[in-house]
Amino acid sequence: TAEYPSALAVFDAAVEAVPQAEFLQYFGTSQTFAEVDRAARALAVALAERGFGAGDRLALYVQNNPAFIIGMIAAWRLGGVAVAINPMNKERELTYLLKDSGATALLALDDLYAQIGAPVVESGQTQVQTVVTCSALDMQDRNDPRLFDGLERIRTDGTLDLAELIAAAGEQAGAELPDPALGPDDVAVLAYTSGTTGDPKGAMNTHGNFAFNAQVYRDWTGLQPGEGILGIAPLFHITGLVGHIMAAMLIRSPLVLAHRFEPSVMLDAIREYRPVFTIGAITAFGALAAAPGATPEDFASLRVLYSGGAPIAPAVGDRLQETLGAYIHNIYGLTETNSPSHAVPLGVRAPVDPDSGALSVGVPVFNTMVRVVGADGNDLPPGEVGEFVTSGPQVVPGYWNKPEATASSIPGGELHTGDVGFMDTDGWYYVVDRKKDMINASGYKVWPREVEDVLYTHPAVREAAVIGVPDEYRGETVKAFVSLHPDVQVGPEELISFAKEQMAAYKYPRSVEIVDELPKTVTGKILRRQLRDAAS
Ligand code: ATP
Repeated sequence: TAEYPSALAVFDAAVEAVPQAEFLQYFGTSQTFAEVDRAARALAVALAERGFGAGDRLALYVQNNPAFIIGMIAAWRLGGVAVAINPMNKERELTYLLKDSGATALLALDDLYAQIGAPVVESGQTQVQTVVTCSALDMQDRNDPRLFDGLERIRTDGTLDLAELIAAAGEQAGAELPDPALGPDDVAVLAYTSGTTGDPKGAMNTHGNFAFNAQVYRDWTGLQPGEGILGIAPLFHITGLVGHIMAAMLIRSPLVLAHRFEPSVMLDAIREYRPVFTIGAITAFGALAAAPGATPEDFASLRVLYSGGAPIAPAVGDRLQETLGAYIHNIYGLTETNSPSHAVPLGVRAPVDPDSGALSVGVPVFNTMVRVVGADGNDLPPGEVGEFVTSGPQVVPGYWNKPEATASSIPGGELHTGDVGFMDTDGWYYVVDRKKDMINASGYKVWPREVEDVLYTHPAVREAAVIGVPDEYRGETVKAFVSLHPDVQVGPEELISFAKEQMAAYKYPRSVEIVDELPKTVTGKILRRQLRDAAS
């Protein structure tokens, strides 16, 4: 990553070039690059006065709020590292992340802090010394009752208040702060994997990783300065960190933030700000398309759509294109690849593999090499299924304080992704599924995604998740959980016979359970793991 600048340099270049350009739009207010710079400097001065310096960790425990970005830049300004924390985390998870990262400072939304953060910090189990709180009601001039009903500002003794720090620091805030001299290999953000296997691990996303993938977004979206980005992914997740924040910094685009994903609030934000680009999970696009009162006109400004983080069933992509009016491009990556390693080029329809029905995740982005490796560790020819092993400027150097996990997952800087797939003879890549989600039915490999894709072609099916459940005779057997579109009636038997007609006997689901909603992560990924745990 030596040729890429730091993520902070990307931001500073925008402040220098277009100080008055809008950077963050949040419930009727907008903040320019210069204003965000000043706010981050004010916070940095307060943190520095309390001993925060190079290499120290500032944990961010906030929703999609301008404070998240201000906090991240403040940490960088002092040569420090931001720790991105899922705001849905509860005491046990927050304790783990604060302890694991060794964060000495915490920036939290006041209500989250009062309910969850304070007991954790006061338990004395963490190293947190400095707490700064902010309110979701700061930096906005409209209190949206759909999100903030009854919300009031909360002050906790012994904490600093972000809005007060910014107001008190004035126009020249932190102008004297020295350059932290960050290089591309310095760690910018610890982004935690969600921990489907063991404890969450802090992927050390470097400044070079961020600067590189910001360029990927600029080049692959074709977005022009001033064209808006709609923030539908959570900022703490790598998709939000890079596809929203870094992209907006490099392209010099306004980023529309909406506290959290609420379809009707998002719809209003689209109507008001007319953003051009967004990226998020396919489930989020589904929710947007179904927002009450939405018309095709509403989505007319959103011309560049990318969906990552989870597979797109071709039938779902096609249906959404009809409503949203734009094609949803597939994009693929992991927290450990700082988001994308593969993407479908803008304006190109990705092919669908005729055998498995999988939609291609695209081709590797520039300067990136992806090998498909068999069980013996050797490279496989096109068409053969193996594990993706990725190297390039976006691959993180390792996991925070976990040398063994780093050595086993990222040996020699090559990431063993845990995703199984293949490349076709034209160079398109297909993710068959995650290694650990494979179902073994009578010795046959069944990939849940393929079965889900078939279920999605049934007009009644809204969402589907397939898992293996223990079976005396077959070892494992295939089970599907399905939610239906409103106002349609269909029973499990019909869905089973629908699938049976289209799939080999060992693949089709032997049982189907119809549920109201499938469990999902905040990023909108369907949680097969939770269904498996409940079924076993
Ligand atoms: P954990 O690794 O702890 O389970 P996670 O799944 O939330 O956490 P992320 O880094 O957010 O981790 O997600 C990366 C995974 O998401 C990839 O390994 C892949 O399985 C899946 N994924 C991402 N994009 C796509 C896509 N376009 N199509 C199919 N799968 C995708």
